[in-house]
Amino acid sequence: MLGTIADLRLDSPSVSILIIEDEVRYLDSTRLLLAPYVDEIVTAMSGHQALGMLEARGFDIVLLDLGLPDMSGHDVMAQVRRQWPETSVIVVSGDTSIESAIRALRLGAYDYLRKPYEPEELIKIVRNTTQKLHLHNENRHFQQMLQHSEYLHRLLVNNSPDIIYTLDPQGRFTFVNESAQRILGADAASLIGHHYDEIVHAQDREQARHTVNERRTGERATQNFELRFKLWPDASGQPGQDGAVTVELNAMGLYRTTANGKREFIGSYGVARDISERKRAEETITFQAYHDLLTGLPNRALFRDRVGQAIAQARRSGQKLAVLFLDLDHFKMVNDTLGHLIGDELLQAVSQRLRACMRETDTLARIGGDEFLVLLPQVQSRHNTEALARKIVAALKAPFMIEDHELFVSLSIGAALYPDDGDGIETLIKHADIAMYHAKDRGRNGYCLYADELKDSFSGQLDIRTGLRRALERGEFEVHYQPQVNIETGHIVGMEALVRWQHPEKGLIPPGEFIAIAEDSGLIGPISDWVLQTVCQQAHVWQRMGLPPITLAVNLSARQLERPDFVEYFSQSLNAYRLDGRQVEIEITESTLMRDIEGCIQKLKKLSELGVEVSIDDFGTGYSSLSYLQKLPIHTLKIDRSFIHDLEPNPHGPSIVNGIAAMAKSMRLNLIAEGVESEAQLDFLKTVGCDAYQGYLFSRPVDSRQATLLLERQCH
Ligand code: C2E
Ligand code: MG
Ligand code: MG
Repeated sequence: MLGTIADLRLDSPSVSILIIEDEVRYLDSTRLLLAPYVDEIVTAMSGHQALGMLEARGFDIVLLDLGLPDMSGHDVMAQVRRQWPETSVIVVSGDTSIESAIRALRLGAYDYLRKPYEPEELIKIVRNTTQKLHLHNENRHFQQMLQHSEYLHRLLVNNSPDIIYTLDPQGRFTFVNESAQRILGADAASLIGHHYDEIVHAQDREQARHTVNERRTGERATQNFELRFKLWPDASGQPGQDGAVTVELNAMGLYRTTANGKREFIGSYGVARDISERKRAEETITFQAYHDLLTGLPNRALFRDRVGQAIAQARRSGQKLAVLFLDLDHFKMVNDTLGHLIGDELLQAVSQRLRACMRETDTLARIGGDEFLVLLPQVQSRHNTEALARKIVAALKAPFMIEDHELFVSLSIGAALYPDDGDGIETLIKHADIAMYHAKDRGRNGYCLYADELKDSFSGQLDIRTGLRRALERGEFEVHYQPQVNIETGHIVGMEALVRWQHPEKGLIPPGEFIAIAEDSGLIGPISDWVLQTVCQQAHVWQRMGLPPITLAVNLSARQLERPDFVEYFSQSLNAYRLDGRQVEIEITESTLMRDIEGCIQKLKKLSELGVEVSIDDFGTGYSSLSYLQKLPIHTLKIDRSFIHDLEPNPHGPSIVNGIAAMAKSMRLNLIAEGVESEAQLDFLKTVGCDAYQGYLFSRPVDSRQATLLLERQCH
């Protein structure tokens, strides 16, 4: 592996010398002489001894006397050259012939010294040799360092995730790192000599001029410049969108100083970072910020933006534009009964059909649950707008086939025009919304154009109304349960389901504060649907837990009963949770009954056939005629809590309760009292033969968890 430059320190290496000399006199004096100049001195008195020592370890310098007793000094010399070529040999000889000196030098001696020599001469030669040695070492060291640093730089450049390049002054590649292969599919060799234009996306060429082959340096040079590069023709890599990658470029000019001190431009240097991934992520995020992910349609933010532009345009041209508010009728029911997956598919199919009704220039947006907005940027008159509304209503007549379900969808449309009904984005949307509610009020599956009169009846309630709609979408409703107790046994025989709104800021809101508005705005439909589903599910859960069988009572609003498919819907809900008709009871008030008595008789009879029992809620406060009551399949009368409350202070209280009790008996109806708060009230009810009671005395309405505990306690 690669070390670091710091590892290659230049140590001044110690110098060792081997003196080969058979004359002891010389040996000793030489040793003494050289001691200050070399670090280590070893001696040998024969050729063999010397070769043995060299074999055992290396020496930097050998001082060799040619006249050895056992072998020729030249042979020693030759062997040293052969085996230890790094070792510098200084030959010392008594032989005065020049041939001998030449021979020694030819064999590779570093220097030659003739005996007898002056001590300075020897010292000079040895010092020269050690110096040469140092130089040699130093040289080798720098060589290594250079190789090392080049390797390091190449490694850094090639392992960079970015494309690094240099261009000549004409804009042709002179260097490209290996990242070009990975990013563009172009290996360095094939790019060298090509003009950078060849890799720049055709549409970006103009922008790329003077940036890729940047001449400037410092702060004015190209920084973080976005640009698209093409994939190299023979690229086998994954091409990006239209075969391009987006890069972020930093580039600058390269200069050198000439001999006469001038700055000369020699080309450009650049680093291009592949940011395609980031670009794609950015595009997705932007898309998500302005679109509804389920249908791919614009969302409210994009819609508002488009309306803003259209208003500006209409203002200039003096034309009108229209904003339509679309709300699917009973969509919640589909979601609750068939599940969210089917609901989602239905929404997608509906949005496609809606889109098909419109022109290219119109905007269709989905702004939540089952609500859509439409912008018609140019309309001639109210008449045109109505025509489109009719077209949309008609387009939804045909059923949708989602998986195996044949689903019928209707919607209500409200429209507001610029400038007649408002001149700002929010006003137009709000007025279209108000008009839509009127359409719903008038019986759904229709449209309504905004008029100022509509506003007066609506704006006060709009807050609660929009709040309620959000509550439905966000699941802020809860069902609480209040036990109904058999007066004789004291056992829980039923539970009344009472809805509550868990408001994120206001806390738990009782039904009295929103049911009336919900009924008014048509929202009671989806709310009641949700309550019925929740209650059926709860009955199913308790049944599966093996708790004692009880009847769950649901309060029914007139709106629900008006639905033509109410009985089917009700029985479907029971079936969905495998419930018996006797497990769910319905409570209707007298006023509800009186709204459409004939219709009620029909529907209640059908329900009765399913085993579903009906009780008249708040009995005694309305004007139900006994003759009608007799025609209805009713099972229970529920005495209004005001009579129970009045039992003690009001002298007529007991007589009213007495009367109702007598009537119930004569009609063979069950009698249940609500609002029982004291033992005294309960005692009185026992005396008149009341069957069951409900009230704070036994328990307040509680959430499903506590209701479960109450039922479990009864088991033991
Ligand atoms: P209700 O059907 O007559 O329900 C009985 C009301 O009396 C409940 O009020 C209950 O909390 C209250 N109550 C029970 N015991 C006592 C007691 O001992 N003393 C007193 N003073 N009050 C007692 P809540 O829950 O506020 O409901 C009010 C009304 O809202 C209900 O009257 C019912 O007409 C309506 N409502 C509740 N849930 C629904 C629903 O899911 N759908 C429809 N359409 N209406 C509902
Ligand atoms: Mg009730
Ligand atoms: Mg009641």
